[in-house]
Amino acid sequence: MSNLPQIKVFNTATKKLENFETVLPGIVRMYVCGPTVYDRSHLGHARTYIAFDAVKKYLILRGYDVVHVQNITDIDDKIIKRAQETGISWSEVAEKNIKSYLDVLKKLGVQPTVSPRVTYHVGEIIEAIEKLIEKGYAYESNGSVYFDVSKYEHYGELSGRRSIESWRQEEDVLKEKRNPFDFALWKKMKEGEPHWSSPWGEGRPGWHIECSVMSSRYLGIPIDIHAGGGDLIFPHHENEKAQSEALFGVRPWVKYWMHTGMLTIKGEKMSKSLGNMVYIDEVLDRWSPEVIRTWVLSSHYRSQLEFNEDALQQYEANQQRISTAYRELKNLIKEAQQDFRLEDKDIATMREIEKLHNDFHEAMSEDFNTPLAFRSVMKATDIFYSKVKEGKSFAIAIQLWMFLNEANYVFGFVLQEEPSSRDDERFRQLIELLIAVRKNLREKGIYDLADGIRRSLAQLGIELQDSGLETKYIVRK
Ligand SMILES: [Zn+2]
Repeated sequence: MSNLPQIKVFNTATKKLENFETVLPGIVRMYVCGPTVYDRSHLGHARTYIAFDAVKKYLILRGYDVVHVQNITDIDDKIIKRAQETGISWSEVAEKNIKSYLDVLKKLGVQPTVSPRVTYHVGEIIEAIEKLIEKGYAYESNGSVYFDVSKYEHYGELSGRRSIESWRQEEDVLKEKRNPFDFALWKKMKEGEPHWSSPWGEGRPGWHIECSVMSSRYLGIPIDIHAGGGDLIFPHHENEKAQSEALFGVRPWVKYWMHTGMLTIKGEKMSKSLGNMVYIDEVLDRWSPEVIRTWVLSSHYRSQLEFNEDALQQYEANQQRISTAYRELKNLIKEAQQDFRLEDKDIATMREIEKLHNDFHEAMSEDFNTPLAFRSVMKATDIFYSKVKEGKSFAIAIQLWMFLNEANYVFGFVLQEEPSSRDDERFRQLIELLIAVRKNLREKGIYDLADGIRRSLAQLGIELQDSGLETKYIVRK
């Protein structure tokens, strides 16, 4: 398609749909705020990471090179608190949760270009803070360093919040600040806390400064897209914006701010205090990554997304219908013969597919409207079952393939390709054999050997999934 629609993006900073134009032609520099690893990643994180992965993949589909940086906050108040509560070291808390985060991310088909960790960049962070002090935007107080909000006239512009009464702060910290809105760039070490040496004594970086420093290191200045969950707009992104524009002397520092809507459970915000947390690894035990992606992307990234098992069940049916069509279509293309003549109705079907493909791009170009794009995919899948499957026309099949293959790249209905060649067939038979042996062992009560088979296969990247009496397997890349 030559005349693809102009991509439009809703910019949180302007609250408007804007034409998407990158700083450098053909390259998108995108920063997504990643997790603070004091706990396993929850479903709200998954929603944000999948949503922006789809944005990234659509931009790649449109010919852009995308550099995607997604940071890991591996030192923070919450990590220290969790370490104190559980009696394990702060670095162990971080390592364990980083491993789990990277594992679920990979399963979900989300692979950032770089995943920088804060503790690997403390030197650069200190340099940035020194520069902010030099420029008069920050001050040292009692071994900590604060950003002076009064020196930056655009504070509150992104979030629309200029008064920060809801922002609870500790009394002793308040005393150190020139005004209560000032935020910490460097935190003085407290007894028993991890610490690094700095010109202001032992301490550690504040939360916000890491994103300014690591994004500029890997993406340069300014950046095209800065994204994250909607709950990060204030104070995190407001502070990032203030310190970056002050530090780099560039405005705007970010061309497009993008934020996901809230994830709810039974209409309520997911939170520790409500005790309704849902973790990604648990959901991945019950549903495939493909189903989770299909469900997440069935809502617009800015909308509220409600989690419930019924919805996932419905999207599992949709995902299976699409993925089966996708695989069958791929085989059909291999076997189909060239068409020497197409009937009028075949030509009409080709036009219909062309229209749906175009609708897909229209929807994705309008602020990445995945639910609308999804409808075109469902309609195209219907065409597969009603007209393509039996007809076996190469022309129609290839036309449909061009669409479904692109849609699959963005949505991830099929993340793992199934075996196709004869060697792969032998591989499949071998796994089925091992599954049968394992079943037999279990029936005889020899569980340790049965579990040994499961573990050894898992080490080879082959995951067994038991559901009822049946055992399926998934090959991880
Ligand atoms: Zn951030």
